[in-house]
Amino acid sequence: MTSGNAIVVVNAGSSSIKFSLFREDGPDLSVFLKGQIEGLGADGAHFSAHDIGGELVAEKRWTGEAVTHDDAMRRLLDFVHGHLGAYRVDAVAHRIVHGGAEFSGPIRLTAEALANLERLTPLAPLHQPHNLAPVRTLFSIAPQISQVGCFDTGFHASQPPLAQAFALPPEITDRGVRRYGFHGLSYEYIASVLPRYDPALAQARVIVAHLGNGASLCALKAGRSVASTMGFTAVDGLPMGTRSGALDPGVILYLIDEMKMGPRELEQLLYKQSGLLGVSGVSSDMRSLEASSDPRARLAIDLFVYRIGREIGSLAAALGGLDALVFTAGIGEHSASLRRAVCEDAAWLGLVLAETANEAGAGKISAPGSRVSAFVIPTDEELMIARHARNLLAGEEP
Ligand code: ADP
Repeated sequence: MTSGNAIVVVNAGSSSIKFSLFREDGPDLSVFLKGQIEGLGADGAHFSAHDIGGELVAEKRWTGEAVTHDDAMRRLLDFVHGHLGAYRVDAVAHRIVHGGAEFSGPIRLTAEALANLERLTPLAPLHQPHNLAPVRTLFSIAPQISQVGCFDTGFHASQPPLAQAFALPPEITDRGVRRYGFHGLSYEYIASVLPRYDPALAQARVIVAHLGNGASLCALKAGRSVASTMGFTAVDGLPMGTRSGALDPGVILYLIDEMKMGPRELEQLLYKQSGLLGVSGVSSDMRSLEASSDPRARLAIDLFVYRIGREIGSLAAALGGLDALVFTAGIGEHSASLRRAVCEDAAWLGLVLAETANEAGAGKISAPGSRVSAFVIPTDEELMIARHARNLLAGEEP
């Protein structure tokens, strides 16, 4: 990328499109504008953009019309072009949830690649179509702009076959029913910065806890994913804001047979009505739960911590031991009490928390002499995506 060029990172969901603008900053890239359009598909969609200092740069609400994803992408591109100054858009890079078995690394998006990715929609029906919609829009309104796709599954392609397998017959696994893992761009970013915190961690056995609205753990050995708590879909593993996490598969059969639930109802239950929200009946948001005096809010937090503790044990077994635990994403980066509870559960592994450092909430939070070290490291999936796009276009990635 020559100086003066910018990369737009797009993260499109069911009702929102988030974007970040990056530019060359020495050997790396730095973000200079971030924004989003929320409330898509309904009246009153809201656009806002902030500069790097958090100052509001632009804001708009569209009333009397339902802004579609297509409209939103057009308006976003207009905004970007009006705010680039001396920069020009070199590429738009998209966060795409599923790359399937075919795409493990970032790719340049072509009409053919888009068609292949659309075929993966049944593997991630709630995310994949929304992630791909802006790609198609840009092909039609700005075909001259290079587009790059980065996948949440990609980083986990390094997992050994056993870690990816379900105990199912081949006629099912051959259809792509296997464990993929998600949050890969977050884990890849954390793996890229770990050596800055402790050079020895580059070769170590590390568990990264990505605890946000979506939550998962990843076991890293020498910076590569060897196992994770999410599997075929992003509903597996830990309980999350509104997702159930792992269930005995027999529960699904019971819900179908005895409660007469159909597939869409089950989808709603497992993705939208379970997890912290379902257990507490109060909120999916950790801040609200921590502030609540409702005993069910406490129960939801306790269950979250308990499941994290159990899964840390499982991933430590997959790694053959543990050298470090890293907390990241909204809850992992900001909730000192959640981190304390998780670290207390992991005491049997040799983790001793440094209380003051944990309250301060940055960098190393384990006590000197702790056999397992612990860290708080802010994740940056957008920067990871922008780096991939730049490297791909510069021919530095295959
Ligand atoms: P997403 O997965 O949507 O990217 P985030 O990584 O932003 O979400 O995480 C959102 C979660 O982080 C919410 O449960 C929110 O309550 C929690 N969170 C954010 N700040 C704090 C805080 N100061 N204390 C506790 N939880 C927090």
